[in-house]
Amino acid sequence: MSSLRFQALNAVLTRTVPEVNLPSTKVSEFYATNVFDKKKMKEYLSKEAFESINNSIVHGVRIDREIAEQVASAMKAWAMSKGATHYTHWFQPLTGSTAEKHDSFFEPAGDGTAMEKFSGDALSQQEPDASSFPNGGIRSTFEARGYTAWDPSSPAFIMGGTLCIPTVFVSYTGEALDYKAPLLKALSVMDKAATAVAQYFDKSIEKVNASLGIEQEYFLVDSALFNARPDLYLTGRALFGHMSAKNQQLEDHYFGSIPERVQAFMQDLECESIKLGIPLKTRHNEVAPAQFECAPIYEEINLAIDHNQLLMDLMDKVARRHNFKVLLHEKPFAGINGSGKHNNWSLITNTGKNLLAPGKTPKNNLMFLTFFVNTIKAVHEYADLLRASIASVSNDHRLGANEAPPAIISIFLGSQLNDVLDEIETSRVTSKMKNEAALWTNIPKVPQILLDNTDRNRTSPFAFTGNKFELRAVGSSANSANPMTVLNLIVADQLNKFKLEVDKLLKKGEKKDVAIMTVIKRYIKESKSIRFEGNGYSDEWAEEAERRGLSNIKTTPKALDVLISEKTEKLFEETGVYTKREAHARHEILLENYFKKLQIEARVMGEIVNNVIIPASVAYQTELITNVKGLKDLGLGEESYAAQLEIIQKLSNHINFIRTNVTAMINARKDANKIEDAREKAIAYDEKVKSYFDPIRYHVDKLEQLVADDKWPLPKFRELLFLK
Ligand code: ADP
Ligand code: MG
Repeated sequence: MSSLRFQALNAVLTRTVPEVNLPSTKVSEFYATNVFDKKKMKEYLSKEAFESINNSIVHGVRIDREIAEQVASAMKAWAMSKGATHYTHWFQPLTGSTAEKHDSFFEPAGDGTAMEKFSGDALSQQEPDASSFPNGGIRSTFEARGYTAWDPSSPAFIMGGTLCIPTVFVSYTGEALDYKAPLLKALSVMDKAATAVAQYFDKSIEKVNASLGIEQEYFLVDSALFNARPDLYLTGRALFGHMSAKNQQLEDHYFGSIPERVQAFMQDLECESIKLGIPLKTRHNEVAPAQFECAPIYEEINLAIDHNQLLMDLMDKVARRHNFKVLLHEKPFAGINGSGKHNNWSLITNTGKNLLAPGKTPKNNLMFLTFFVNTIKAVHEYADLLRASIASVSNDHRLGANEAPPAIISIFLGSQLNDVLDEIETSRVTSKMKNEAALWTNIPKVPQILLDNTDRNRTSPFAFTGNKFELRAVGSSANSANPMTVLNLIVADQLNKFKLEVDKLLKKGEKKDVAIMTVIKRYIKESKSIRFEGNGYSDEWAEEAERRGLSNIKTTPKALDVLISEKTEKLFEETGVYTKREAHARHEILLENYFKKLQIEARVMGEIVNNVIIPASVAYQTELITNVKGLKDLGLGEESYAAQLEIIQKLSNHINFIRTNVTAMINARKDANKIEDAREKAIAYDEKVKSYFDPIRYHVDKLEQLVADDKWPLPKFRELLFLK
């Protein structure tokens, strides 16, 4: 029993819980110690430089060269005082992970001596050789240069002895090659649009920041078991594995006590996160065994996303110290719940007001209703684009699988607000109302404190939860920048349209509140079909949604079509968030990513079947055959080996099935590989290659149940999920 599986099981049984030494029991004492935040900037920069950089953070004003020089040298001094030796531009290419290329501060001075240097230029801009990042055909090799440019709105930080500077990543010709650049554009569009509308109500509002709180779900498995499963370490999910006898049916994991080893990991992760200024606040078990969740306190979106990317990275690093492996895949284990990343979103003004929180006065409520209804209208208008923003090969497993929201985009509001909107819709608010008093008697009151009273409906992809919307369809491994770029963009676009309509009525002499309410009332009517309060997992909803004309696009390649539709192109161009070329490049990259991942899964599946499953099954079968022969030699009758014969026969049937189907799948792959067009290729991979996965898996899992436990080579689900 020297197989990797048994070595791994032995390793798990002898694990000890590593000691976690927190720098202090008071989090406030080490919060953001590794971040070059405003406090440190104040300390290390001249007053002028600090104001300039602060101005850039708040208003996006460009930082001039001289100031950049000062900031760079201050950053270097601070980083070196903390033991950093290198610096890197930290960015988010379209691979989905983060990228960094480290340079040393050290530079030869030319006279045989050396010095530590970090110039303003090195801070502001770098030219990583970027030809090996996904670019969707934007860069041909002769213009393969891309450059990264400093994003001062997200503070630099130290990780592993390296000063990391958050940057955007663009091609030499200026096209975005990352997630951050379009996000920053969308956030700026949102700021302008929301501020303009908010000023109808409150002239002191000069800036609106979109905020985001990300709940991150993940699985933890022992690293030895993980490393004994090539499917897990090559694809992030178990391509095979019979369900464990016990899984989540007892519902005993959710909010249950956290196992000691996991607790130590979480403490360590929290400590590292806190040092990097990631305000991790909650941790708990999730629904599935070995599944957990953590969530920081919400922050301005750009920062929240940088922090989530950093968190995912940290999880991986910290897990190593605890002999764990973090699985961020949306569906690592068939048959039990997958993981998501709830995106809690709201709009907060410079005056500290949350525009999505109902207020005390009718006037405040009109402001709330304005932003609330415009969001609903935007999602109604661009549901397909929102659907596309969460599409990925791994999230396809989760959406609509009765554990996560369906692929149909709808909005859940809760009964109170639903009633309010219904009442407004049928109220007698008209543009002919002479005065505002008449208006107010005609519109219903918004309940003041919704936060603790909102209904919770876990089956909705987009739900209002008291003072924020929660986009629940985002996959656990995704970069939230993509859905957040889309959400902010479509709501901003909607607010712009709203403002045009209201201004038109104002020009006609309409009273402001009446004008606003008139447009809101119409929007409520127009966007009604997107509102759904019932069970999103039910078949009835799929039918009802179809009657309502809502899309239900189940797979990624087709969900992505909308990225290059005329309507989207117009939206992107009018708001300046993506050029046509960028949108097409992204479409291409996402399709490529889709079929490449399926290609890898198909290959891994073939290898494991041919080289691991079949040999193990045959070995066991041979043992049975020897046994049967022995019994026969003893002169015993058939009744003494009937069971063995039955197993031998069953083994043959399953082995035949998987062998034939793997061969057929390889041929289907070869055919798919010949297709040039990325969309067609992705669809072929979905319909002609992926379609083999479930049947092959079914028969492999049957073999797992037949073959002797000590001959089965892959760690089983019960071991991956339950061994502590
Ligand atoms: P749950 O949805 O599980 O009840 P919470 O209400 O505790 O969770 O919040 C989940 C996430 O939403 C946290 O990251 C929290 O900081 C964030 N959040 C709370 N209020 C807001 C808000 N106004 N805007 C954006 N995110 C918010
Ligand atoms: Mg939540």
